[in-house]
Amino acid sequence: MILTDCHLHSDLSTDGLSPMEEEITCAIKHGLKTLCFTEHNDYGARDDGSFVTDTRLYREKFLEMKEKYSDRIGLLFGIEAGLQPTDVHYSYFNELADKWDFDFIIGSSHVVKNKDPYYPAFFEDYEDDDSAYSAYFEEELQNASMYDCYDSYGHLDYILRYGASLNKYFTYEKFSSILDPLLKEIISHGKCIEVNSAGIRKGMGFANPHTDILTRYRELGGLPPTIGSDAHEAKDMAADFDEVEKILYDAGFSSYSIFRNRRREEISL
Ligand SMILES: [Zn+2]
Ligand SMILES: [Zn+2]
Repeated sequence: MILTDCHLHSDLSTDGLSPMEEEITCAIKHGLKTLCFTEHNDYGARDDGSFVTDTRLYREKFLEMKEKYSDRIGLLFGIEAGLQPTDVHYSYFNELADKWDFDFIIGSSHVVKNKDPYYPAFFEDYEDDDSAYSAYFEEELQNASMYDCYDSYGHLDYILRYGASLNKYFTYEKFSSILDPLLKEIISHGKCIEVNSAGIRKGMGFANPHTDILTRYRELGGLPPTIGSDAHEAKDMAADFDEVEKILYDAGFSSYSIFRNRRREEISL
């Protein structure tokens, strides 16, 4: 059983709904052993500065909770960094990673060419979903080549949650000329990818990334993935992890990774 959730937002994140303490007590009730908070830091993504969690406040709250619950659950201090392939973002995230004592950094692509595929306007810039997906993966490839200051690439095919056709026409082969170099780049930098269970509860029928991407990652020699629910409220914590366990086995993995002090540890399934 997977008893660790390493992708979780509290109400310190702009779109988080539950207070950190409620999520912690809920995790204890569910019998989870380890919880890693990964509040958003989408530096430069929004004009109003939203989605950039105040790290100082976050750390204070986190340490208070870690102390209070230390005999009941292991708490880890992470962030979800919204990577973008610009020098400004690159310097910002490198400095952030150096400055704070994070356990774990997820690198994610939320904003591509100034737009987030979460909003339908993103797709107006492309002829069809396939060209939007290609542009998204291309930018992830740029990020994966540039950045070293993260540990696991989050929800690699996040965009498949939002296109009009969703994942209906997605096949690995169609995008293999971008996805193969992307996975190879991530693997050669010694990074993991994440299996994010939100895809299942968003009705995609699988986790992010698509099972074919995960299987290819394994074939290419990828490290055991990190696992996260991407919950923004207590009720979604560790959601569908029984399904995720099956997905991991099917892709050929018998363990998953967690990070403590930015060092990888492996836990058997
Ligand atoms: Zn995300
Ligand atoms: Zn997230």
